[in-house]
Amino acid sequence: MSNQLSDRINNVTPSATLEMAAKARELRAAGKDIIGLSLGEPDFNTPDYIKDAAIQAVHDDYNSYTPVDGYVDLKDAIITKLKRDNNLTYDRSQLVVSTGAKQALYNVAQVVLNDGDEVILPCPYWVSYSDIVKLAGGVPVEVATSIDTDFKMTPEQLESAITPKTKMLWYSSPCNPSGSIYSKEELRALADVLKKYPQIIIVSDEIYEHINYGVTAHASMASFEDMYDRTVTVNGVAKAFAMTGWRIGYIGAPTYIARACNKLQGQVTSGANCIAQRAVITALVESPSRIQFMVDEFKERRTLILGLLNSIEGFKCNEPEGAFYVFPDIKAYFGKTLNGTMINNASDFAMYLLENANVATVTGDAFGNGNCIRISYAASEKDIREAVSRIKIAVG
Ligand code: PMP
Ligand code: GLU
Repeated sequence: MSNQLSDRINNVTPSATLEMAAKARELRAAGKDIIGLSLGEPDFNTPDYIKDAAIQAVHDDYNSYTPVDGYVDLKDAIITKLKRDNNLTYDRSQLVVSTGAKQALYNVAQVVLNDGDEVILPCPYWVSYSDIVKLAGGVPVEVATSIDTDFKMTPEQLESAITPKTKMLWYSSPCNPSGSIYSKEELRALADVLKKYPQIIIVSDEIYEHINYGVTAHASMASFEDMYDRTVTVNGVAKAFAMTGWRIGYIGAPTYIARACNKLQGQVTSGANCIAQRAVITALVESPSRIQFMVDEFKERRTLILGLLNSIEGFKCNEPEGAFYVFPDIKAYFGKTLNGTMINNASDFAMYLLENANVATVTGDAFGNGNCIRISYAASEKDIREAVSRIKIAVG
């Protein structure tokens, strides 16, 4: 039978991060000693105090459908968290809990975009943004940045990317994959451009908020009074709380957007997992100081991996201020032959590292920057040392 799939799915690119992780798993199963630095996933276990809350929820018979947009007391925990950490005031009608921040983003794209609407994506951007936008009929408009501006978009760049069709701006800060953080002043400068274009909705993905190494304080676009009514604040527990598999994310948004996401979700998933939602109440109500030990550990690994990578000729790294990725510019290798393999682009380079160093990374092309590769340092010190030493030998 011929391919009966929709154009919609045929036009989607598979998630490069998940694909690389699957490839690494396959190679490992075939007996290869692969070090996986491709997936953005903490190598910690979910802290015990959060696990205990989930176990208690099982015993307390939380087993029914939840409200589509999340338990009311989870919403209250989110309200507390957003006030405490971000000085943002939301009420219950503005919140929607979803199956991961990924679904939260997907919902927002589906309810806001019409065919042909443009969405500005400062590059590098998180791998799924462009496909989530395309799935909603939107047109990603990539704004190239470089290591010289710490991979951040300037107000001038934003202004020149805006057209009458621009409907949204999406970014993450701290950024996956560059680790860059927009300061409050930098966000204000972008907001000064945006206030001239009231039709633009902003998606501020703050999922790495807590993984911040203390140079630039976290800031939220919605904290500006004139941006609050047009900003969707996206957050989740996957990264900072080592809860990737629990699949809980959420938005704080203008009520009309939250209501629309609720309607969509009611026809798609009926809501997020009940036990995970109970556990997340504890995660959010407890002080973020309880997860600081993981952030401290990531910071040490960042220093380690930057030192090691910078000793390899041809690797040029910015200093990530948050998240747990380095995004080295490796274009110095383009046009060169390594061990008989011609390197034409970042995908060739990432594949070369997988095959010749047994190290899984992700090509920068997946993040809208073809000069770089992404390396996750959410891995043990031993693995980081061994991986970089193998890379050094493979490119030497
Ligand atoms: N946004 C960014 C920037 C991410 O890196 C991720 C990673 N998964 C997500 C959203 C999605 O998070 P979740 O696992 O909660 O769906
Ligand atoms: N966000 C993580 C990453 O960037 C997890 C993988 C994914 O959801 O794509 O690697």
